[in-house]
This record gives sequence, C-alpha cells and structure tokens, in this order.
Amino acid sequence: MIRINENYLKLKSSYLFSEIAKRVSEYQKANPGESVIRMGIGDVTQPLPSAIIEAFHKGVDEMADLSTFKGYGPEQGYDFLREKVAEFDYRQRGAKVDADEVFISDGAKCDTGNIQEIFAGDISIAIPDPVYPVYVDTNVMAGRTGENVGGRYQKLVYMECTADNGFVPEFPKEKVDLIYLCYPNNPTGATITKEQLKRWVDYARENRALILYDAAYEAFVRDKTLPRSIFEIDGAREVAIEFRSYSKTAGFTGTRCAFTVIPKECMGYDSAGNRHSLHAMWNRRHTTKFNGVSYPVQKATEAVYSAEGQKQVNAIVDGYLENARIVREKMTSYGYQCTGGENSPYIWVNTMRDSWEFFDMLLTRCQVVCTPGEGFGKCGEGYIRISAFNSRDNVINAMERIAKL
Ligand SMILES: *Cc1c(COP(=O)(O)O)cnc(C)c1O
Repeated sequence: MIRINENYLKLKSSYLFSEIAKRVSEYQKANPGESVIRMGIGDVTQPLPSAIIEAFHKGVDEMADLSTFKGYGPEQGYDFLREKVAEFDYRQRGAKVDADEVFISDGAKCDTGNIQEIFAGDISIAIPDPVYPVYVDTNVMAGRTGENVGGRYQKLVYMECTADNGFVPEFPKEKVDLIYLCYPNNPTGATITKEQLKRWVDYARENRALILYDAAYEAFVRDKTLPRSIFEIDGAREVAIEFRSYSKTAGFTGTRCAFTVIPKECMGYDSAGNRHSLHAMWNRRHTTKFNGVSYPVQKATEAVYSAEGQKQVNAIVDGYLENARIVREKMTSYGYQCTGGENSPYIWVNTMRDSWEFFDMLLTRCQVVCTPGEGFGKCGEGYIRISAFNSRDNVINAMERIAKL
C-alpha cells in the first residue's frame, strides 16, 4: 500500500489567491461592462529590457552551434555568473562573499523551501506573522509544525510584526534554532535598519541559531543607510544564509534565475555538538538534486550586471518605485496609515476594518483588486497589500477611483 506524507493533510488550503480570483470573476460576471484594475499582483509586469534579451538570444544561438554548444553545466552555476554576483552584489557594497559561496538556482521559492532539508526534524522555528506563505507551508510538509489549531501551527514560534514594532519582530521568548527574516518585506513593505539587523545577528550568534534571510526585494532599497544584504552586518557570515532572486529585481519571474549564498564559516551542529559546514551540506544537496539553470538563462542573467543592463533594470525598478510612491501618497492623503511603498514595491494599508470586507468594498465600489492581509497570517487582519507592479496609468486610475470612496 502506497502511504502518503500525512503532513500534507495539515496544510491550510491555499485559499488566498483562489478566493480572490473567485470573487473577482463573480463580480465581473455580474458586471460585464466594468473594467477591473488589479493592484494585488505579486508579479512583475514590465518586459525584459533589451540588454538582457540580446544576451538571452546569444545564449540560445550558442546552443545551435557545435563549437559553442553546452550540455550539463556546473550544478552550482557557471563561474561567469557566480563571479559577477560576488563582485557586484557583495564586494562592491562592502560585503565579503566569494564566488564559490554562491549557488545559482531556478528560484528563491524553491531554495527557501528546500534549504530545510539539511536541518534536523525537531529544531524550533521562528516565523514572522504576516509572512510569505512558502516558509510556513514547506515546514508543514516537512513535519516540523504540528497541527493547525485556530489558524496557528502548534510547534511554530510566531513573531508578530505590527505597527507597534514597526513590522520588525522582537526576539522570541522561547529558544529558537532557525529564524526567517525577509526585508524589504513581502507583504508589509517594511525595511530593517543595519542596527536592527545587527541585533538579530548577535542574537543568532549567542543562541547558535541560524537566520534565513530573504532579500528578494533588495533592488528596491534606495536609501543608502539601509542594508541590501545581511552580509553587510559584522558576524553574519557565521549565522546567516541569504536568498536572492532576479524575479522582482530584473523581471525574471517567468525566466527563472535566483541564488543562495552560504558562507563557508556558516556552521550547523550534530546531536553530539560537533560543527558541520552548511556550505558543504548544501553543496552536496544541490549537486545531488539539481542540474543547474539553463545556459541561455544564465547568460541573460549575466547581462543584468553589464553597464547597459544595470541602467535598464534600474529604470524599471525606478518605475515601480514611483508607482509605490504614488500609492503611498494617495492612500495616506485619503486618511489611511501606510507602511512600505518606499524602498519596496508593496504598500501595507491599515484599513481599520475586516480585510476581506475592505477587499469587497474596493472591488464593488472602485473596481480595484487588492490582497487582503489576513491571507498572510493572523497579524495581517485589518490590512490590505497594494502592489506597485503595474502600469503608471493603472496606478493613477486606481487611486482616482479610491478617492471617490
Ligand atoms: C517573489 C518572492 C520571491 C522570489 O521567488 P522566485 O522563486 O525567485 O521567483 C522570494 N521571496 C519572496 C518573499 C517573494 O515575494
């Protein structure tokens, strides 16, 4: 008898985006003439710029030529790309990362989910609330969370992110071994200062814990005093793994390229207390279960770092940031308290009422779709997330419609 992994039965059905789609399609059926503006999208909308597309095409053409054809590449990624990452994303910003500490992959979603395979089954895990749902659900699948009772998994330690703490959590009261942090944050759009991040690094060092730092939105950080990487913080190399992605920063959500950085000093412990290199363990895992990102995609990604590529991707991010600024300014002027929208593509709006009720009101009275905060965790109740991934016209239109409320 083929038995199943019963941990899957503990998953809360991922009803958020299906429930949104259902409510939008019902509304559209009932009101066929109305045009709906989608401000809930967690996906980029602008096409890949020319410098990247040219490199992509060139990579494809090389595959058609006997003298430049590529078969399997290195599982960890081609050196040409790992070198660029180490140089441009880290060394030039004062963070020490070597090319062989960079693991190129097909997504930060997969990496943040897969990384826990190298940790023990009974570690204690701290997760922010509200949160990117992948961190929670992948731990449920791995059997680390216990049952869901009243919307919370019994064995997870929830770190509440609220207006009171500026959406940067306090240290958990109980001892934890693994800590998820994401800044600039999805869904709140909040950022973390170097001082705050340093306290988390110190905390991890004192507790022999590990921080999983998701920096998928680092390109949106324009305030030079804010960290773009946890490795800008002293001591982080021993206690942190960083996840990055080209999805939101360079428009690669459909192209697929990302990377994970595990410094060689980063250690885990066996039950006897002996230290083991997490870099070596992930290298073993990655090379065993992954066969690398396709060559043309890595060539396209390399072009992100060329002078022209930088100019073009920065211009796209600037456009989203301007959208975010407009949303934040307008929603604030309508009397809503907002977080994010600066150094982030997301605006987290305090609706002062039930987040689904507010969602329905925006949909039926303004024909604007947002994401109800409740879908990201208990602490998201009373909030909505508005995304800046849209055209300028749609953003301005949506804000004009909401002004009439
Ligand atoms: C979009 C996003 C990612 C990126 O995932 P990919 O698999 O690289 O597309 C990672 N983390 C968060 C929090 C995100 O919102």
